[in-house]
Amino acid sequence: MKTMISVSEAMHFINEHIMPLHPVALSLQEAAGLTLAEDILSPYDIPAYPQSSMDGYAFALEEGRSTYELEGEMAAGNQQQFTLMPGKAIRIFTGAAVPNGADTVLVQEKVKVENGVLHLPETPLQKGDNVRPIGSEIQRGAHALSKGDRLQPASIGFLAGMGIDTVKVFPRPRVSIFVTGNELQALGQPLGYGQVYDSNSYTLRACLEQCQIHQIALLQAGDDPDQLQVLLAKALEDADLVLMTGGVSVGDYDFTMQAFEACGVMPVFHKIRQKPGKPILFGRKENKAVFGLPGNPASVLTCFYEYVLPAIGKMMHQPLSLSSKKAVLSHDHQKPAGLTHFLKAVYDGETVSLQKGQESYKLSSFAVANCLAVFPETETQFTKGQSIEIHLLP
Ligand code: AMP
Ligand code: MG
Repeated sequence: MKTMISVSEAMHFINEHIMPLHPVALSLQEAAGLTLAEDILSPYDIPAYPQSSMDGYAFALEEGRSTYELEGEMAAGNQQQFTLMPGKAIRIFTGAAVPNGADTVLVQEKVKVENGVLHLPETPLQKGDNVRPIGSEIQRGAHALSKGDRLQPASIGFLAGMGIDTVKVFPRPRVSIFVTGNELQALGQPLGYGQVYDSNSYTLRACLEQCQIHQIALLQAGDDPDQLQVLLAKALEDADLVLMTGGVSVGDYDFTMQAFEACGVMPVFHKIRQKPGKPILFGRKENKAVFGLPGNPASVLTCFYEYVLPAIGKMMHQPLSLSSKKAVLSHDHQKPAGLTHFLKAVYDGETVSLQKGQESYKLSSFAVANCLAVFPETETQFTKGQSIEIHLLP
């Protein structure tokens, strides 16, 4: 097990130990936002018939002819197949099949119709005008989407347009949130002396819901090694990812590491040179990942954004980190060397200002922040006007 590693080493180990989940077949509705685990070939030519792209008149364009005799009508959805004779035109509407024999559609605004005869305008026409050829969106058997493509709303519609209703994708993980601590009280109960309301399970659930993860189990234990072991074993059975909070330091009541060992979870690292969230523990059992997050509410949330979110992304085979950018620091700032600081801050599109109240037990500053400002481990002096890295909160 590694200990007291840097932020980038932690990212490296998470990336190394977390693998994409096994692909599953899901309906298009369920697959939206997920990553394809297979290449998709089109089962049909789309459009499947030459299709009019305008309301107007269809005919076979003949060199030198300026009038066509009108007969019949084709509206979208009309399944009648027939052949239009040379010199004839048919009234046609957007989305309708252009009859055999016809090759061109003239928009209705450009046409003069008199006594059942269509008069072409002076402006020259091109064969194929306003006709969408068969297979012009995609041809039968052609490559439509690739393994690794993220299914955006447009991809979902593209698949539906090819008649595909089920696809193989990398699923979202099933997650167990497991809060620990003798002092935790449930919301709705009176707060006794020495108790705190369990806020971590609410924070984490909200984070997961924001990632569209809805398969969430919730577990709670006191600072009791036996109870921790039993419930961690249960969490590991039901989930791909276990998020524990509390009990990861080296106090007399910190039993998370013991529970890892008892449940066969291999600890990968313990402690990152960062603030907040230094005591974070990360382990793995086969293809399941367990984060032991420090109990302090701001540590939980910082660690979720910086480490758990990319881990979920790796499981789902898509990049899910906070987006990173440069911003101008609005005031001087000092810190000691040795730890990377992630500070709650407000970014106004140009400058970034640090919030008051950065202690790890406080969520008040986090609740009104829109980014985390990153102050690297080795640096100590930061000056007003300096460009620094920020991570935008989702
Ligand atoms: P620990 O990591 O167990 O030493 O806990 C650190 C701090 O986080 C303590 O002040 C705990 O009371 C607090 N804490 C632990 N779990 C929770 C929780 N689920 N909700 C709110 N605060 C918590
Ligand atoms: Mg504790």
